[in-house]
Amino acid sequence: MEEKLKKIREEAIAAMEAAEDLAQLNDVRVAYLGKKGELTAVLKGMKDVEPKDRPAVGQLVNETRTAIEEKLEETKKGMEAKALEKRLKEEVIDVTLPARKNRVGHAHPNSIALDEVERIFVGMGYEVIEGPEVEYDYYNFEALNIPENHPAKDEQDTFYINQNIVLRTQTSPVQVRVMEQGKLPIRMIAPGRVFRSDEVDATHSPSFHQIEGLVIDKNITFADLKGTLEEFAKQLFGAETKVKFRPHHFPFTEPSAEVDVTCFKCGGKGCRFCKGEGWIEILGCGMVHPHVLEMSGIDPKEYTGFAFGVGLERIALLKYEIDDMRLLYENDDRFLKQF
Ligand SMILES: [Zn+2]
Repeated sequence: MEEKLKKIREEAIAAMEAAEDLAQLNDVRVAYLGKKGELTAVLKGMKDVEPKDRPAVGQLVNETRTAIEEKLEETKKGMEAKALEKRLKEEVIDVTLPARKNRVGHAHPNSIALDEVERIFVGMGYEVIEGPEVEYDYYNFEALNIPENHPAKDEQDTFYINQNIVLRTQTSPVQVRVMEQGKLPIRMIAPGRVFRSDEVDATHSPSFHQIEGLVIDKNITFADLKGTLEEFAKQLFGAETKVKFRPHHFPFTEPSAEVDVTCFKCGGKGCRFCKGEGWIEILGCGMVHPHVLEMSGIDPKEYTGFAFGVGLERIALLKYEIDDMRLLYENDDRFLKQF
């Protein structure tokens, strides 16, 4: 019996050492310790052992069982540790691999240009004010000296909600809304979306953006207008920039002018970018028409002021040298992320 138990123990240990994985190890456990296992068979044969020898044999069986169980546990732990190590090696994270990019989009050239324009005027003490895109005909035309049947109304053909309400053709109505509030002096810019019933092409869109500017105070002259816009142009296009005022006509300003800046590509010598002119038109401006002041309840004998309007897209196209306005509306981030 003693021999037999010793043999079982040695064979079991050898089988465990030969086991390649947890499944094989379990087979060994079943073969020796299971219900039909070899050690169980020995226990069942105890009835044939002399009663006086039973305690000694029983102890021997227990010792064998303990030895096999201990070896089982030890082998199992070893196998599990190896498996874990193998998995860690296989699943190792290579921190030097390029990360997957999180696509969050990109600021639009219009937004970048608007931030820049706002920064310049806020720096000069201006407020940024917004007004409605759906506007009364009165604010969009009449209060700006563009009465019914005025030819300027045809040039600014827009989308009518009804006879009295339109999608605004310019940001100028915000001027009227602010002047009507009667708080003076005024120093404001009004950026926003405007509408015209234009066909889409490289330089036109039925919806685009303007930035309106208005200053009303005592003793404001054309010199203030020139100084302000010159400073604006220098900050936007560079300190070398020169400005030129060409007489023009707008119904709501008198006198009125269009403003050109020296081409920031060639410095005014003439190049492909400025079509050989050396100058680039950037905005329209003028002294607020006395009639416009009166209509909004401001006494033109006491107060004067100037106004200007800049096309935001025009600034963005010039600043970033984009040659087709339609690119600004496609929201293709391969395009947008270049700026
Ligand atoms: Zn040029």
